[in-house]
Amino acid sequence: MMTCRELYGFLDDFLDGILDALTRQNFERHLERCASCRKYLASYRATVTLARGSELAKAPARAEPPEELVLAILHARTAAFSRQPPE
Ligand SMILES: [Zn+2]
Repeated sequence: MMTCRELYGFLDDFLDGILDALTRQNFERHLERCASCRKYLASYRATVTLARGSELAKAPARAEPPEELVLAILHARTAAFSRQPPE
């Protein structure tokens, strides 16, 4: 059976869903029996999600938005303005 220390080493791969079937089985079996690893996984997952989210938020736009999206936004804005009552 996998030890807690081994499990920690697989956390990233587990969260990325790239563990092979056997390792994942051992990983999940360990989690079923080990409350402290379940807790650790939960907080680790939350941290990773936060970290990845803030990286995305900080990252500069990699590419121009697709033209369709720009047109859709412009169209939506125009539609919203044209619904405004005249002053
Ligand atoms: Zn454990």
